[in-house]
Amino acid sequence: MKNSIEEAKKDVIKAGKILVENGLIARTWGNVSARISDEQFVITPSGLAYETLIPEQIVIVNIADCSYNGNIKPSSEKGIHADTYKLRPEVNFIIHTHQLMASVISIEGKSINIENNEYREILGEVIPCTDYGMSSTKKLRKKVSEAVSNYPDSKAFIMKNHGTICMGYNLKNTFDVATILEKIAEEKYKSTIKENESHPIADYGNSFRQGNKFTITISGKTAEYSIDGVFEDMPKEVQLHAEIYKKNNISNILHATDDVIVEFSRTGRILKPLLDDLVQIAGINIQTTKSSNISGIAKMLKKKNAIFLEKEGALCTGVTKADAEAVVMVLRKGCLADFYSSARKLTDQLGLIDSYIQRIVYKNKYSKIKDNGAGAAYVEKIDRR
Ligand SMILES: [Zn+2]
Repeated sequence: MKNSIEEAKKDVIKAGKILVENGLIARTWGNVSARISDEQFVITPSGLAYETLIPEQIVIVNIADCSYNGNIKPSSEKGIHADTYKLRPEVNFIIHTHQLMASVISIEGKSINIENNEYREILGEVIPCTDYGMSSTKKLRKKVSEAVSNYPDSKAFIMKNHGTICMGYNLKNTFDVATILEKIAEEKYKSTIKENESHPIADYGNSFRQGNKFTITISGKTAEYSIDGVFEDMPKEVQLHAEIYKKNNISNILHATDDVIVEFSRTGRILKPLLDDLVQIAGINIQTTKSSNISGIAKMLKKKNAIFLEKEGALCTGVTKADAEAVVMVLRKGCLADFYSSARKLTDQLGLIDSYIQRIVYKNKYSKIKDNGAGAAYVEKIDRR
C-alpha cells in the first residue's frame, strides 16, 4: 500500500531518527525515502541533521527525472532511490545505512548467499555487493541500479567500502531487512575473527574548550585549566589536551577506550582508508604514536580527527561533542574493518585520491552546515520562509 504524503513524510523522519539513535549512520551521511505514488517519492534533504527534521524539510521528488518541488535540496543519492522505485514496483520504502557489520564486511566486495530459510523469505536468496563508487556520483548510481535490476528478488544490497541499501514494503519491513542483514554480516564476521580481549588502560581524559580555557575530566575528577597556563610539572594528560587545543581549531577531545579501538592501538598499525565514512569523518591513514609524544600528537591531529595512542586507545577530536563522538564511532568501525581485512588477507583499500576528495567535501560541507546554524537554528529559518 502506498503512503499519503503526510504519512510518508512522518515515516521518513521517524526512520531518520531510528538510523541515528541505533548508530546505523553517523552525522547526516545516510538517506531515507518513501514512495507516495507511481510517479513520486519523498526523501530526506541533503545535509540537514536528522534529529531535528520537520515535515517541511522532506522533499518530494519525481521518479522519472529526479526533479523536485521546493527550495530544499533532496539527498544527493536521490537517483539511486528513483531508479529503485522504477525497477521495483513492490518497494515503497528505502533506507541507505552505514550499519556496523554490513559495512565492515563490505570491504571484501563479495555477495553473500543466504542459507537460513526464514531470512531468505524476507531478504531474497542473495545479498549482492555492488562495486565501489564514490558517494553522489553517477558511477555509484549505475552500480547500484545494475545490482537492483540483476537481483530482482534481493531486498538488501551491500555497497563496497561504504554501507547498504535496504528496501521493503513499508518502514517496518525495511528495518527488518536491515536488522537481518546486520545479523548475517555479524555471523560472517564472528566466524572469521575471535572476540577481542579487554586490556585495562590509563585514562587520558575527556575535555571541552570554552574560549582560552578547557575543562577536563580524568578518572571521574573534573578540573578547569587555562590553555596557556599549563606547564611541564602538571599531569601529562593535561599537557596533552592543552597542546592539542593550542594547535587545533577544535573544542572537544575524547579518549576512546573501547576494546576494539584499544586492540587496534596494540597492533601499532596505521588505520588504512577502508570505509568512506571513516575517511570523511576521522581522516586518512590514522597513525599510532606514544602518548608521551605530546607535540607530535597535537601536530598529527591537524590533518585528522583521530590518533591512536600506542596500547592506550585513541584520542578523537571534534568541533562539538557530537562531532567527536561520531569520530569514535567511525574509528571503531574502521578498526573492525582492519581486523576483517587482515584475517581475510584482503589487500583492497580506498584510493587515496577518492579518499582526499571525500575528506575535503565532508569538511567543507559540514562546516557550511554549521555556519548556517544546524538543527534548531535551521528549523527557525525554514519556519520564517
Ligand atoms: Zn552513505
